[in-house]
Amino acid sequence: MTSINQKRCFGMDAVRVRFAPSPTGYLHIGGARTALYDWLLARQTGGRFILRIEDTDRNRLVADAVQDIKDSLRWLGLDWDEGPDAGGEAGPYFQSERLAIYEKYATQLVQAGKAYYCFCTPERLEEMRKKQEQTGQPSGYDRHCRELPAEEVERKLAAGEKYVIRFKVPLAGQIKVRDELRGEMIFDHQTLDDFVVLKSDGFPTYHLASVVDDHLMGITHVIRGEEWIVSLPRHFLLYDAFGWAPPAFIHLPIFLAPDGKGKLSKRHGATGVREFREKGYLPEALVNFLLLLGWHPPTDEELFTLDQAVQAFSVDRLNTSPVNFSLDKLDWYNGIYIRKLSHEELAKRALPFLQKDGLLPDPCPPEQFAYLVRLMPLVQERIKLLSELPNAVGYFLRAEIDPPAPELLVGKKGTTEEVAAILRKVEVVLSQTADFSEENLELVLRGLAENLQLKPGQIFMPVRVAVTGQTATPGLFELLAALGKEKVLPRLKQAVMVLEKTGSGRASVN
Ligand code: GLU
Repeated sequence: MTSINQKRCFGMDAVRVRFAPSPTGYLHIGGARTALYDWLLARQTGGRFILRIEDTDRNRLVADAVQDIKDSLRWLGLDWDEGPDAGGEAGPYFQSERLAIYEKYATQLVQAGKAYYCFCTPERLEEMRKKQEQTGQPSGYDRHCRELPAEEVERKLAAGEKYVIRFKVPLAGQIKVRDELRGEMIFDHQTLDDFVVLKSDGFPTYHLASVVDDHLMGITHVIRGEEWIVSLPRHFLLYDAFGWAPPAFIHLPIFLAPDGKGKLSKRHGATGVREFREKGYLPEALVNFLLLLGWHPPTDEELFTLDQAVQAFSVDRLNTSPVNFSLDKLDWYNGIYIRKLSHEELAKRALPFLQKDGLLPDPCPPEQFAYLVRLMPLVQERIKLLSELPNAVGYFLRAEIDPPAPELLVGKKGTTEEVAAILRKVEVVLSQTADFSEENLELVLRGLAENLQLKPGQIFMPVRVAVTGQTATPGLFELLAALGKEKVLPRLKQAVMVLEKTGSGRASVN
C-alpha cells in the first residue's frame, strides 16, 4: 500500500475538497465517483465539499449540463457545502464569473517574467504545426514570442493585436510532482512547451483556472481522474511560479469496459448518471458500486450505505490499477437495494416510471398510491431495475389488458376447447366467490381442479395468462387477490372469447 503523506492529508487545517466538472456534458459516472470520494473525505473529516463549475471552454458548453450535474449529485445524496445554490465565501463558483481574477494572476506572472504575451496568429501556429510534422520535430509551441523586446510587446498591445499569455517553462532542468497514491514523479522541462494560461478571448485555460481557484478556495486535496496526471507538471510549475504550496493530489484509476478490454466508453452502454437513473438503478446501488470501483475496504464487506462509507473510507485504500466496470455487479447491488426498501418506499421510487408510461396519473391520488404499495410485495423479489416495473405491474394498473395470444393460453398440452371449457368453469366459480382473499382463492381453485380431475397446473397456467397476458407472474392466488374480482372476471371472459374465435383443435404453438 502506498504511504500517504499524513501531515498534508490530515493536517491541522480543515479538509477542503472540490468537485470541478466542466459543463460540457451530463454528469459522467467517472465524475460521480470523484464527487463521491470528495464528499466522503469531507464528511469524514468535518471538512467542506465544494462544487465548482469549470465553464471556461465556451465552445463546448451544453446548455442544461449544470442542472444535470446538480440534479445528479443531489440524487446520489452528495450535497455540497459551497458552490452553486449553496453560496460560500470563496465564490463565485462558476469560473466564467472569475475572469478578472485569472487576468490579474496571469498578468502577475508576466510582470514577474514567468509568462509572456504571444501574438502568434492561428495561421502561423498551423504552419508551425505542419512544419513540425513534416520534419519530424517534436510538436508544441516554438517559443516564437518568448523573447520579444518589451517595446514591441507594448506596441502590439497598444495596437490592439490579439494575444494569449503563455507560461515560460524553464528551458532545462526538471519538475518534481507528487501524487498521494503514486508518490513522486519527475518530468523534464524539455518535455513541456510554453502552454497558454490566458486565451485570446480573456478566458483562462484549465491549467491556470484550476491552480488559481484551488489556491484561492483553500483546497487541501485535489481528487480527480487519472487522465489529469499529464497536467500535473504544469500545475506544479504554476504553484512554484506563484510561490504557493500545492494541495495533495490524488488521481483515480480509469474505468475499463465490462469485458476488461480498453477504456469504458459510450459504446459499452450508459455512462451518464442520468442514464443509470432512467434505467431504474437506485442511487444507493450506484453509490455502493462506485465506492468499490477504486477503493478497497479493509474487510470482505461489500455493502455500504453512504453513512457506513463515511466511516470506512480512507484515502490510503484507494487503488491505482484500472478497474473493471461490471454491469452484472451493479445489477446485483441494485437487486439487493431494491429488496431492502420498504413497500412504501419502493412504490415511491416506482411511481415516476409508471407515470412516464401512463399507468398512473401525475399527481397520483392517495387510493391509487395505496394500491401500488399493496402490489410491491408481489414484485419486489422479482425485479432488478425499477424500469422493469411498468411491465411487472402494468396488468394490475390497466383496466383492461390486450387479449392474450391463444397459443399462450393453451400452452403445450391442451386443446383450445379444453382450455376454453376450463376457463368458463373458473369464471363461473369465481363469479360466485365473494371472499377474494389469497387463501380462499387457493381453496376454491384447488377444489375445482379436484372436481374436474385436473392437475392444478392445467387450470393455473391458463388463468394466469388470461388475467395477465404473461406466463411469468407472481404467485397465482396473490395475483388474483391483488387484481380483484372486477378485473379478473372480464379478463377470463375475454380469454374464452379468444379461444372460441380460434376454433377447434390445438392452437399453434409457433
Ligand atoms: N474541469 C475538469 C473536468 O472536467 C476538472 C479536472 C480537475 O478536477 O482538476 O474534469
